[in-house]
Amino acid sequence: MQTIVIVGGGAGGLELATQLGRKLGRKNKAKIILVDKNRTHIWKPLLHEVASGTFDASLNAVVYHAHGARHGYHFQLGCLTNVDPIEKTVTLEPVSDEHNLNTRQLKYDQLVLAVGSVSNDFGTPGVKQHCYFLDSHQQAERFHKTLLSTFTRISQSGSKQELHIDIVGAGATGVELAAELFHVTEMLGSYGFEHMAAEQLKIRLIEAGPRILPALPDRIANAAKRELEKIGVEVLEQTRVQRADSDGFVTSEDKKLEADIMIWAAGVKAPEFLANIQGVETNRMGQVLVNKDLTSTFDDNIYVLGDACGFQNPDNTWVPPRAQSAHQMATIVQQNILRKLKGQAALDYQYMDYGSLVNLSRFSTVGSLMGNLTKGSMFIEGRIAKLVYISLYRMHQMAIHGRLRAGVLWFAERLVKVTRPKMKLH
Ligand SMILES: Cc1cc2nc3c(=O)[nH]c(=O)nc-3n(C[C@H](O)[C@H](O)[C@H](O)COP(=O)(O)OP(=O)(O)OC[C@H]3O[C@@H](n4cnc5c(N)ncnc54)[C@H](O)[C@@H]3O)c2cc1C
Repeated sequence: MQTIVIVGGGAGGLELATQLGRKLGRKNKAKIILVDKNRTHIWKPLLHEVASGTFDASLNAVVYHAHGARHGYHFQLGCLTNVDPIEKTVTLEPVSDEHNLNTRQLKYDQLVLAVGSVSNDFGTPGVKQHCYFLDSHQQAERFHKTLLSTFTRISQSGSKQELHIDIVGAGATGVELAAELFHVTEMLGSYGFEHMAAEQLKIRLIEAGPRILPALPDRIANAAKRELEKIGVEVLEQTRVQRADSDGFVTSEDKKLEADIMIWAAGVKAPEFLANIQGVETNRMGQVLVNKDLTSTFDDNIYVLGDACGFQNPDNTWVPPRAQSAHQMATIVQQNILRKLKGQAALDYQYMDYGSLVNLSRFSTVGSLMGNLTKGSMFIEGRIAKLVYISLYRMHQMAIHGRLRAGVLWFAERLVKVTRPKMKLH
């Protein structure tokens, strides 16, 4: 029986493990092993909500051990540090807060690398030491703790002091986080934070490029910028950060931007260890280069998907690091593994851009839809955009839980909202 090891239980990897578990693992046609450095899964596009406290990771996380038992795959906790394509083994190191695990080797017949991406600080001095990142739910929760204790300190001081938060990088993460932070600060009054209100929150969104949301069309970026400025966010475009100090950023023009809390959300790169795998080819973002069927260019028993995958479109652009890319790639990798087991020819992957949405918390949602129905790109805003945005997470839930359980979960979430505060206050 073949052993298929999937490393990374994120947006793409968990969907793949679920599908292969159902189709192969449950029927004893192959052994499916999912490896992750965390015990639980949170869909990454929700991390800005975990950071602001509007999404409680401890209530909503998927527990791999239990999920695997239900869906026909095995879960192993460990951090991938190397792959030996000759011996067909992966090296797993113990994760930092689990002291009883040993470094070990795991054998595979087919390997899928779905390890996602990490923030890229472009070597900017001081960023690692002084900034918060949103690469994992631990990091988002760490930020949330700092935010909550800062709200508490200001409120208890009774001084109506200002709170300055600087966010570097005005991609979707930075923009959505800025709006979400205003939203939670507005709620504080109703939870007894008497001296901390939205007027005291001063957020700067700092972007090196000529405009915010550089990867999205002008119309979406302009609508988002208008909304952000209306809320009170200070948007600084064409502002390059040269250094982070403990009390703020310094721009390339030597201007100091003082801040109490600093967040770095200026782009991503693939995890660095991937470049050390023997024979691997990577692009500028460190993503592993793949063939059209998503096998790596250096070994056709190793597939790569999601943010870690370097796939070039026919027009030479790279597939963007997005949840929709990870989802589409997971579907093709699943089909190609099944086809390989049956001795059939592999399918080629083709990136389909179904549009982009930016959710500005309760204030607005803007974006575009693309596809056959819309005959090109269609700009959407407001309630419809919000509905489509929410449906993306629901679709991920359906992929990993099935329709019925996803429906039950949706209902349970609505019930919990009636009894709990709208933001996490602990
Ligand atoms: C705040 C935020 C908002 C976003 N919003 C959107 C959006 O609106 N729309 C959109 O399309 N995209 C969005 N994205 C991007 C999207 O989240 C990613 O493109 C997507 O999650 C990539 O999926 P993936 O499966 O490649 O990796 P991930 O979902 O990041 O999963 C990677 C998994 O690998 C595990 N892992 C990593 N390294 C190792 C290792 N060495 N060993 C073992 N396990 C490892 C991690 O624990 C994780 O579980 C957003 C991202 C962020 C941070």
